[in-house]
Amino acid sequence: MNNNLNLQTNVALVGTPCHIIAAEKMDHYAEVLGRSPIDFKLGLFCMENFSHLYLKEFLSEKNIKIEDIDEFRVEKGYLWAYLNNGNVFKLPLSQAKSFMRKNCQVCMDYTSELADLSVGSVGSDQGWSTVIARTEKGLRALQKAENEGFIETKPFEESSLNLLTKLAKKKKTENQEEIKKRESVARPVLYRRYINDEEFINEVFSCQFDDLKADVIDIGSCVLCGACYCVCPENIISIEDRRPQLKGNCPPECNLCYMACPRTYLSQEVLNRDLDQKALGDYLKIVSARASNVKGQDGGVVTAILNYLLEDNISEKAVVADKMAENPWKPNAILTSNVEDVKKAAGTKYSACPVFKVLKEYYKKDPQDFRNDSVKEVS
Ligand code: SF4
Ligand code: SF4
Ligand code: SF4
Repeated sequence: MNNNLNLQTNVALVGTPCHIIAAEKMDHYAEVLGRSPIDFKLGLFCMENFSHLYLKEFLSEKNIKIEDIDEFRVEKGYLWAYLNNGNVFKLPLSQAKSFMRKNCQVCMDYTSELADLSVGSVGSDQGWSTVIARTEKGLRALQKAENEGFIETKPFEESSLNLLTKLAKKKKTENQEEIKKRESVARPVLYRRYINDEEFINEVFSCQFDDLKADVIDIGSCVLCGACYCVCPENIISIEDRRPQLKGNCPPECNLCYMACPRTYLSQEVLNRDLDQKALGDYLKIVSARASNVKGQDGGVVTAILNYLLEDNISEKAVVADKMAENPWKPNAILTSNVEDVKKAAGTKYSACPVFKVLKEYYKKDPQDFRNDSVKEVS
């Protein structure tokens, strides 16, 4: 992986932990899937996500129109909706299960453990965000963003670290139980299997979209990231509201969607399962940080760091989740080099967003190419 901040056409990805894992996997198998443009991974903290459709229906049953909501937050065990008339609606998360995405119940990563920088609100005071630098690249960006006045930081208190660790551990423990439960009723959670790169290549060798459908999509494991759509050389996958669908016939040699998906097998080389034992994964530094003049639960700092990456030409573009004008709170991934677009997209959306859709041109392969690729060439 290229750790040099200044060397290549770079895209900064802002995503949930499952997006960050997908980016890591696609980078790892770049020789087969195509060179990844993602060179900076800004991961968000994520306990769970909601189906936009079911969330909208649920709110409507409570006589709340989703377009009247100014801000959503997940905090202190509740989903909070701040309405534009000043009212606040709160719902215990235990009652939000009906519109929670099923894939989130087998997710073990709360703090985007494979990101360069992870950002979330837990552990920091109101108006501040918690920032975890995990790689040298992430640490350098954090320090430079502060030196150049994009953000300010302060130490992360021990009590805050304890709280963050407790939440991350809770997610791992509870979801490990769910994984065991699913495995015991023949709904395998493939991405949790222990497997090395060589075994991975053998496992995925003959797997196509039908297998992706059976092993991931139909059993509620799809995170709706768009990686399958992004790498499909025949352009025959569409991502509708809730699931990817096949719109054509697969040539016999292709397995790219199955290979790229973060919910099929993940080799130890992509995601080291030793991280299961570390609530927050590996990291170099944790601080509280804030940026001025930018709104959003975590968006202030995320946006300020993206501003720094774009303005200093460390990243040429950024992938962020904006809201759809015609369908409020439905996230819509955009690829932009415009700082104003980044500011406009600030704030957490709490619904799945197929971020890789907008990166398709970077992974474009001639359908003939993959027939010539040897999957044994994986770096
Ligand atoms: S699977 Fe769900 S909980 Fe896990 S990172 Fe993705 S959206 Fe968040
Ligand atoms: S052509 Fe390849 S990537 Fe596209 S759906 Fe078929 S198997 Fe998947
Ligand atoms: S099936 Fe496609 S959209 Fe769903 S998790 Fe896998 S790659 Fe992402």
